Amino acid sequence: MKGSRLLVFTDLDGTLLDHDTYSFEPARPALRALEERGVPLILCTSKTKAETDRWRRALGNSHPFIVENGGGVFIPRGYFPFAAAGGAEGLPYEELVFGTPYQELRRVLADMRRRIDPSIRGFGDLTDEEVARLCGFSAEEARLAKEREYDEPFVVGDESLFEAVEAAAGRAGLRIVKGGRFAHLLGSHDKGRAVAALRGLYEKARGPSRTVGLGDSLNDAPMLRAVDIPVVVGKPGGGYDPGIDLPGLVRAPGAGPEGWREAVLGILARERAPVP
Ligand SMILES: [Mg+2]
Repeated sequence: MKGSRLLVFTDLDGTLLDHDTYSFEPARPALRALEERGVPLILCTSKTKAETDRWRRALGNSHPFIVENGGGVFIPRGYFPFAAAGGAEGLPYEELVFGTPYQELRRVLADMRRRIDPSIRGFGDLTDEEVARLCGFSAEEARLAKEREYDEPFVVGDESLFEAVEAAAGRAGLRIVKGGRFAHLLGSHDKGRAVAALRGLYEKARGPSRTVGLGDSLNDAPMLRAVDIPVVVGKPGGGYDPGIDLPGLVRAPGAGPEGWREAVLGILARERAPVP
């Protein structure tokens, strides 16, 4: 837990990972600089725990991480000098839960299928092969993406049904977030609440923090609002998500992992994070 007071929270898809190739290669110099300065890098993604675990291994990352748009926060056991959350003894992580359990989401979605239209289909209604085809994933990636706990991606056959779907979600105390390929059914959690909770744990362990957040899309806005230095990286075609606009927003000079690298190196130079 030694090192600078900086904490960096980052989205994966389209931010640290290239939108099309999923490569983080261009970001390597900045990843190395964070590590040398002892700055924790916390992945904060819409991906599942199983998918995020895989990216943590690829990145050599051993810090806490946030999954399914803030539904769950996983903390390696013993990472903080105190018990951070619940979680059965013997498991490698403690978990803070903010999301609505998956079974409840599935129950509400099944109800929508019955009452509104049978074309409403979630990941739980699709085979691994169907998810792979819809996402451009391998069969293994599709399997990991289907291990959901707090967020159910779904498709609707006809856009005009959407109003009824949103109303039904609202009546069940849930909400709908529209993503690139899917709409998502989830509870009241978002990335911002998870970031704030984790920041609190770091501050309890080591005193005041200065936080950075990097994202590319609307689902990152709550995370960016929760940090001291919000950064939006560019879209592959140029420009930035028009839905992200907040005071002090830093626009990374570039898209995806290139923009990520430049923004992080720039912040490290400005903040002069001490080498421990
Ligand atoms: Mg993204």
